[in-house]
Amino acid sequence: MMTKNFPNLVLFGSPGAGKGTLCEKLEEKYNYRTISTGNTLRTIANQNTFLSNEIKAIMANGYLIPDEIIFAIIKEKIEECTHYKQAYILDGFPQNLRQYEFLKSFFLTEQERNKITFVHLNTDYEKAIDRMSTRLSCPYCHKIYNERTSPPTIHNLCDVCNSILERRTTDSRDKAILRLEIFKKTTLPILKYIKKDFPLISLVDPTTHIIEDLIFRR
Ligand code: AMP
Repeated sequence: MMTKNFPNLVLFGSPGAGKGTLCEKLEEKYNYRTISTGNTLRTIANQNTFLSNEIKAIMANGYLIPDEIIFAIIKEKIEECTHYKQAYILDGFPQNLRQYEFLKSFFLTEQERNKITFVHLNTDYEKAIDRMSTRLSCPYCHKIYNERTSPPTIHNLCDVCNSILERRTTDSRDKAILRLEIFKKTTLPILKYIKKDFPLISLVDPTTHIIEDLIFRR
């Protein structure tokens, strides 16, 4: 299915809110391309360079990566999607006011801003912690599983690419709590600016068809 007339989406929500799972579904059904800063950083972290070791250490501690690294990733990916007229979903960006301003610089007119919709996944924090501490993910293709609610068909193996699944270093209960604190302090405050500047829908525990009704059939 073509996505040309669909709005680009920005999923805004805490770690563990369900952004990645929603991206998988929208990608499959509507041919969106997901731009996930977390997945891109994990891929970079697995290479063996000075930068990758630095990124790996910051991620393992649960802190945010410096903006300049994030800007380089986002700029390249948004420009590529724009060039190929590929509708995209931003997952994990923006996470602070400076990143939000950077994103806004791509959409200077009201007409451009109306082509992007923010989706706020307003998931309960306890639920998010629970989801993170039972999450498994594929280090290769990034597919997400949950050991209780959506386990792989074969124990610990990715259904898509057969790789051995892993628990992300950031998904321990302690790290999940720290990341939620960072979200509340650094990321959540930008919601008030988003409300002013962009179309925004807010959902508690979304299912794909609610999203579809709100975004595609309005
Ligand atoms: P995620 O996969 O979205 O849960 O992100 C995993 C980790 O990647 C985060 O804990 C941060 O260390 C890093 N990260 C992802 N997105 C960003 C961002 N926009 N700014 C800074 N760090 C990020």
